[in-house]
Amino acid sequence: MRLSDRQPGRPALAGWARHPRTGGAALRIDIVTIFPEFFAALRVSLIGKAIARGDVAIAVHDLRAWAHDPHRTVDDAPFGGGPGMVMKPEPWGEALDALAGPPAGLVAGAPARPGQPGAGGSRAGRGPGPVPGSGAVRGSGAEPAAAPVLIVPTPSGVPFTQAMAAELAGGAHLIVACGRYEGIDSRVTEYARARMTVREVSIGDYVLTGGEPAALVIVDAICRLLPGVLGNACSAADDSFGAGGGPMSGLVEGPVYTRPRVWHGMAVPAVLLSGDHGAIARWRRDQALRRTARNRPDLAARLPASALDARDREVLAAAGFAAGGEDVAH
Ligand code: SAM
Repeated sequence: MRLSDRQPGRPALAGWARHPRTGGAALRIDIVTIFPEFFAALRVSLIGKAIARGDVAIAVHDLRAWAHDPHRTVDDAPFGGGPGMVMKPEPWGEALDALAGPPAGLVAGAPARPGQPGAGGSRAGRGPGPVPGSGAVRGSGAEPAAAPVLIVPTPSGVPFTQAMAAELAGGAHLIVACGRYEGIDSRVTEYARARMTVREVSIGDYVLTGGEPAALVIVDAICRLLPGVLGNACSAADDSFGAGGGPMSGLVEGPVYTRPRVWHGMAVPAVLLSGDHGAIARWRRDQALRRTARNRPDLAARLPASALDARDREVLAAAGFAAGGEDVAH
């Protein structure tokens, strides 16, 4: 399903294409799943607009297109016994070959060239066909294709963070592999590591039914950081975790308010109406420090002393944290 064609409700082609206006999106994301319909949500709001503008090209591929038995089987019983099923390696291997190009030396033939029909798809006759433009990921078609980064959502991965989202937003080509059942046969990541960076990431300490909701979270957080996606260019830096070393670096954001000034007898803090930008910035930082200490003591404990001024230390001490990260109350 190509999400750049803006036709809600209509399944689109499996494949990726350069956006007609921009001549090539800054970031290409291929999502492989057994539930392509899950990703209709990406057409909505800011990410939908970014796709329509061509800031990002997102293609959703049905893994079953790379399964060749009559039932398009993608799972099998686990070796060693135990409950549940495991995703078979063969469809995943073919999907990676089609989207990233086959590993050097494994398949004979000329290397795929950006934009060339069949680029990255020498096994095209067996799968869903060549993926148009799979080698062209940034800039002019003359540039060598960047190796993609394979993102594998899994509860056993490293925690997904704002810093990781920012790093991945600076890339050119991401492939997201959505697992189901008990996960994907481990040899698939081993196979991928030979030619691309593999990031096994967890979106939290809980277990989902599948990788699709995690992929939506990851793709949303990454695309939100692409240039031009947010209306106010500064807002990512002002948000929790302070993307790009913003004022909220290492902190979660404090409370926010809008009109009316008084609602159900509750007044907006007077400082926010003062017009004193210095006082407002200080108040916001105090609130962020307090909320971080209360809700995320793990983050408060990691705040570097060098990033804290005297007032920060005072606020943290009142919240039970010694300056420079020592937790005196927990
Ligand atoms: N057997 C696996 C385990 O215990 O670690 C859980 C598999 S889970 C039922 C199925 C799929 O959901 C996973 O392969 C992964 O793609 C996704 N998933 C579940 N929880 C996740 C999380 N916290 N973060 C990212 N992906 C998750």
